[in-house]
Formats: sequence, structure tokens, C-alpha cells
Amino acid sequence: MTPSLSPAIARFPATEGDLPCRAQGCANHNGVLCHYVDRRGRRCDTAWCPNHWATVGGIVYCRRHAGTIAAIGYFDHPSGMPDVDNRAPSLVNWVGRDLDAFVAATLVQSATQGETFVREPVVSTHADRSGGRRYERCWKLVDHTGLRLVVAVFVVEGDETTIRVRVGSGVVAEGVPPWIERHRRGIEVTEETDRGQRALFYAFLQKHIVAAVRANRAVDQTLQQR
Ligand SMILES: [Zn+2]
Ligand SMILES: [Zn+2]
Repeated sequence: MTPSLSPAIARFPATEGDLPCRAQGCANHNGVLCHYVDRRGRRCDTAWCPNHWATVGGIVYCRRHAGTIAAIGYFDHPSGMPDVDNRAPSLVNWVGRDLDAFVAATLVQSATQGETFVREPVVSTHADRSGGRRYERCWKLVDHTGLRLVVAVFVVEGDETTIRVRVGSGVVAEGVPPWIERHRRGIEVTEETDRGQRALFYAFLQKHIVAAVRANRAVDQTLQQR
């Protein structure tokens, strides 16, 4: 197959395939290939049975690529879909979703008169200073003059396992989520340990978000009082 620059045509898959399922411990042989195609025309080569695939709009994907598509949408990407091995968009989507309620509450509570809270529901793509792409989800306080304060969670291409948090113009916290680190090192833990490690990771990010939002607001107030 020659790589094509035009967007891939979405194709509804046969209900069941004849490939072995990639899921660990699954013996099913009715797997279908993930339908993800990236900007270079490369396909994901994993196959999944109906118990283990994920679908978006009726199209079969592996769970990671379903996450990528849920994160950034399939259309309106003139530069094409992220590389097939790029975890960044789905990682930002997961972490953003888990932090959403907390960040929203923190910003709403810190809003002053005339400010409105705005949530960006999808992961957006930006050109990063480093030359690669940056995948980002953000929450904002705006008023009639424009942007007052932004909290963003992002991942930069080339360092796709590190979650970074920006409040205002500065990065205030960063780290590799424990489940990614474990996967990288091939460590397996119990569900309970997993929950505990996730909770610690999010508590860490939340602590730094709150502190940075407060610091930003304090500066705003001093400026207003002058
Ligand atoms: Zn399976
Ligand atoms: Zn896939």
C-alpha cells in the first residue's frame, strides 16, 4: 500500500475478523485490525476481538487509538493524524478528564467579579517551541479584556510520557504517570496499588495547581490595588 496524503476513508469493519486477539490472556481468534491510519499513511497493526476492541462511530480501533480519536477528533486535521506510536493525545485526554472537576472548581472559586470560567473540551494541537507538536487541554478564566488565567495540561512530542501542568505562563509541575512508568518497566501491581499510585499522582498535580492559581491571583490583586 502506498502512503497517501489525502485523509483515510473510514471503512466500517466486518463484524468479526479471523485474527488472534492481542489482549493479554485472550484466546479469541475473531479479531479485527485497528483502523487507525496516521499522517504518514501508517496503520496500527494490532488486532482485537469484540471483547477487547473499542469503537468510535462504529469503527474498530485498539483502545489507545480510540483514545487518540476521542481526544482530538478525526476531522479538521490538515496535517494529519498523530503518528501511530504517539501516545500523547490520549494521555492528555485521560489526565485532563481525571483533573477536570478539580481544575474547574479551583478556577471557579478563584474567579473575581466579571470573570467567566471556560473549559476547552477537546485536546488541541499546537506548534511547540521545541519544534515538535504539543497536545494540550486547558481551562480558563476570561473577562471582557480577554484571558485572565489559564490552567493547561500538556504533553510534548518527543517526550510523550511526561505530563506537564502550566498555570498562567509558567510550567508548575511535571511527571510521568505511575501507570505509564510501570508499563515501561514491565511492572505489574494489584488494582489497589494502582489506585493508590494514581491518587498520589493526581494529588501531586492538584497541590501544585492550587498553589499556582493562588499565587497568580495574589499577584493580580496587588496589581489591582496599585
Ligand atoms: Zn480479546
Ligand atoms: Zn491501534
